[in-house]
Amino acid sequence: MEKIWIADGHCDSLGDLTAGKRDLLGPSDLGHWDLVRAKAANLGLQFFAAYIESEYKPFLACQRGLEHLDTALKFIDSNPEDVFLIQNRSDLLKLGLANKIGILLNIEGGEILGESLFMLDLIYRLGVRSIGLTWNERNAIADGVGETGSRGGLSQFGFQVIARMNALGVMIDVSHINEAGFWDVINNTSSPIIASHSCAQRLCNHPRNLNDQQLRALAKNNGLIGVNFCQDFLCKNGRASVDDVVKHISYIAEIAGVEAVAFGSDFDGIPLAPEGIENVSKFPLLIDKLIKSGFSEVEIMKISHGNFVRVLDDVLK
Ligand SMILES: [Zn+2]
Repeated sequence: MEKIWIADGHCDSLGDLTAGKRDLLGPSDLGHWDLVRAKAANLGLQFFAAYIESEYKPFLACQRGLEHLDTALKFIDSNPEDVFLIQNRSDLLKLGLANKIGILLNIEGGEILGESLFMLDLIYRLGVRSIGLTWNERNAIADGVGETGSRGGLSQFGFQVIARMNALGVMIDVSHINEAGFWDVINNTSSPIIASHSCAQRLCNHPRNLNDQQLRALAKNNGLIGVNFCQDFLCKNGRASVDDVVKHISYIAEIAGVEAVAFGSDFDGIPLAPEGIENVSKFPLLIDKLIKSGFSEVEIMKISHGNFVRVLDDVLK
């Protein structure tokens, strides 16, 4: 099999870049992700999350989100030989070619919008093409999974946000939203949606993971689930390994179909990466494990990048 290129639906490496801890050029022993290690794995597409840390919410959320965005845009401008920004459907044609990584800008936390739709139009102009509607807390759009016991779904503003995201061609990301909000989104979106970095609740009962009905609904919506490499989402007991990642991928493929599963590592957002896939350079080992577990070459192409390209092709303009 030729060396397969990788699409990854979520990393939090922008945090270190904004903080000035690393330049993400690498190779570095720090963190999980940098250009040298990403290229070693033949990474071709990376969602870069601008994660708005809780201490900035609500009043400084917009400023903090824009700060991460500024960092990301400068990183892309400074490294034209290595990365390019994905904004439109036509940009997808460049993916997997010329040893360059396509970067898709995601905002992790709808707090950046405050309660104003114009902010959505504005960050779209800055290149944002994916938004995680909530993190774990409640915001003006919906409740996150940390609002234990909440049955609150989308607010009226939330319904306006998803309609505008559909119209602009911005990916809706439902990782972190609570279940009522999930159903409101999936029942009202006109485009496929993703859970960029989540796992299967049946294998590991964690509020961040998705139940079987949610997995099937994402498949029916032509969306996908990017399997998260977070220890706590992969297994309850013992140290998680690359085999646990394979288990979640296999389970989601069984429940929702192979077209609904992809990678959403959460590198640099998780404290401890699984044994065997300790950083982005180790993706090829995961591919080997998927081959050994019985996935065909065609199926592995879908999981490794094809599903993400299909969904982006449906969503972007
Ligand atoms: Zn997250």
